[in-house]
Amino acid sequence: MKTGLFWFNADLRLDDNNSLRELLNRSECVGFVYVIDPRWFHPLRFHQPRMAAPRWQFLKQSLSDLHRQLKDKGHALTLLVGDPITELSLQLRSWNADLLGCSTPTGYFEAQQLSAVAANVSRVITNTDLTLFNSVQLAQDHPTMTSFSQFRKYVESSDLPLSSPSPSHSFELASVASTESLETIFSRIEERWPQLATPSQSRFQGGSVAAQKHLIDYFSSANAACYKDTRNALDDWDSSTKFSPYLAIGNLSARQVWSAVSDYERKHIANTSTYWIRFELLWREYFHHLAIRQGPKSFRFQGSASRRPLTFFNATRFAQWCAGSTEFPLVNACMNQLRATGYISNRARQIVASCLVNELNCDWRFGAAYFEQYLVDYDVAANWGNWQYIAGVGADTRGGRHFNLEKQSAVYDADGRYTRKWLDNSNEYVAPWVDAVDWPIALSD
Ligand SMILES: Cc1cc2nc3c(=O)[nH]c(=O)nc-3n(C[C@H](O)[C@H](O)[C@H](O)COP(=O)(O)OP(=O)(O)OC[C@H]3O[C@@H](n4cnc5c(N)ncnc54)[C@H](O)[C@@H]3O)c2cc1C
Repeated sequence: MKTGLFWFNADLRLDDNNSLRELLNRSECVGFVYVIDPRWFHPLRFHQPRMAAPRWQFLKQSLSDLHRQLKDKGHALTLLVGDPITELSLQLRSWNADLLGCSTPTGYFEAQQLSAVAANVSRVITNTDLTLFNSVQLAQDHPTMTSFSQFRKYVESSDLPLSSPSPSHSFELASVASTESLETIFSRIEERWPQLATPSQSRFQGGSVAAQKHLIDYFSSANAACYKDTRNALDDWDSSTKFSPYLAIGNLSARQVWSAVSDYERKHIANTSTYWIRFELLWREYFHHLAIRQGPKSFRFQGSASRRPLTFFNATRFAQWCAGSTEFPLVNACMNQLRATGYISNRARQIVASCLVNELNCDWRFGAAYFEQYLVDYDVAANWGNWQYIAGVGADTRGGRHFNLEKQSAVYDADGRYTRKWLDNSNEYVAPWVDAVDWPIALSD
């Protein structure tokens, strides 16, 4: 009897999951696994843990939803806690599994983990489930990856075949039972890392059931038809799609969103706004393929650039940026919203990232790691790719982005309402004494 193990990762859904579908077709008995790595909760890379409360809570909701759906089909989700390579290797042996299924990963470390685990099985089944196109369609050394514009023009003009979301598949096969309840495991983790249980003001509910409902609600409203005019708003729930957390964790696939845009265009209206939702999905696509191509350079100070940036790690300024106590009220408001909710708009992300790099002169990677900790929509490719883009160390050689903070406040928060809403006056700005401009000595004679 062929036993298959499916390793869920950034694809927490049962529908339109080709890797899962293929594994189910090839197995007679199957088990489902997700691995929680305790290193996510320790300060390791860039002195920061990789997951704080908002992201953890969204993940928990998504895992519970997945488990419920599997139970309805006579299966269960097995949660493992530990190093993914060790835990999966042990699980493959204890279930005597012949096949391992999982979506083709985008991130460099995730790809390395998969290669290490693959040594334990006779066959690994992977498919493109995190992106619209696969890497073969976009040959890795294709010159179109040097800028988003070139990439987009290439995709739009070459008419690459885009597969439709795959229909639901049958789960009628034997199950390898799970061991412990998810809630018990979650409680144990929160007892050990109590900061994860901090209540979050996030409006997002994790899970593919909530994601599908949100997709339907969004395209039942008139928002898609004016997306291009509203998408730059600083803080308005309806101004952009809010698909990102669902796409990042895989509660929704990019194919499902793309196809929902096309349906909307057929039934209602096709205009520059509906085109622009696809345009933004292509940004996501671009960063995913860029991350595959860049490998470890995604996390390197100089990224893909030929020279290292002139910024450095300044602990005081970085701590002020994180705490929302810089000298820039708009930036502080954005950072407070991020900590409280795990989400800020694209405009707010650009403003705070530009501030860290250009005003505070800090190493961009510390900001990217901080976003990784808090964003409910954290996506390895979109996050590190956007940060590189702003810091001027990505594939694009135009040299970064510098936003004028006064102008941003005047245009996007003219009446100051957003800043007042999120400003926390307990965190007052104290000028760091190390700044040369504040040094009270005269250099004459
Ligand atoms: C410094 C920085 C860090 C970022 N980190 C992330 C991240 O970790 N995860 C993430 O999903 N997005 C990230 N983004 C991109 C963008 O800010 C979010 O995707 C967007 O704000 C999510 O809200 P939305 O779903 O309403 O987006 P919409 O404006 O409705 O866009 C629709 C979808 O297109 C994709 N998209 C939109 N803009 C971008 C972009 N610039 N890059 C890549 N994909 C995009 C997202 O999947 C999004 O859900 C980052 C941007 C910046 C400037």
